Amino acid sequence: MRCPLHQTRTQVVFGNGNADADLMFVGEAPGANEDRMGLPFVGAAGKLLDQLLGEIGLERKDVWVCNVLKCRPPDNRDPHPNEIDACNGYLNRQIDLIEPSVICTLGNFATKLLRADTTGISRVHGQAEKRLIGARAVRLYPLYHPAAALYTPSTLTALRADFHRIPELLAFGAPDQPRPLEEVPEPEEPELPPTPEEDLEPAAQLGLF
Ligand code: URA
Repeated sequence: MRCPLHQTRTQVVFGNGNADADLMFVGEAPGANEDRMGLPFVGAAGKLLDQLLGEIGLERKDVWVCNVLKCRPPDNRDPHPNEIDACNGYLNRQIDLIEPSVICTLGNFATKLLRADTTGISRVHGQAEKRLIGARAVRLYPLYHPAAALYTPSTLTALRADFHRIPELLAFGAPDQPRPLEEVPEPEEPELPPTPEEDLEPAAQLGLF
């Protein structure tokens, strides 16, 4: 309920798949079907995602799928910056917990958010790069959004070619992780001599009252 979308959503679309997956997909926001079912990518774009996964020998149960926004924007409008900010903590926590090696961003919104850069998807799709997201080092791999590929055949060709390189990226494993911050030892409390009251036997203490 951190942004106004909670007033118009049917339900939160948190994400689904394998919470231990090496491969994670991040789309834009739930659409009408997703809002009704409570699951990401269940409409036409989801069917294409399933097909492309099948082409590389994977199924939805092998990967984690979620979105930048967990609630549907009315009329499928673009996410607003305040909504992305409000939801970002949830996505970062999902990345923390799932610990993927490869994150495929689907389309402009996820790509710009996780690359922290305004460069559009048509310039960066298919170019994997090591990125630190929160405390997790991952191979970030921007892809065209499947919904865009449904309408433009050349986008589908590019998406498919990029998709077919995912197994190669997964084979590299996760990049080296940053070293966790050294635990700073607590300074030892100096032993103080007992106060006169602490020094009394319990029975004698009771006698004080
Ligand atoms: N498009 C998205 O970006 N996410 C979905 O869950 C469905 C369609």
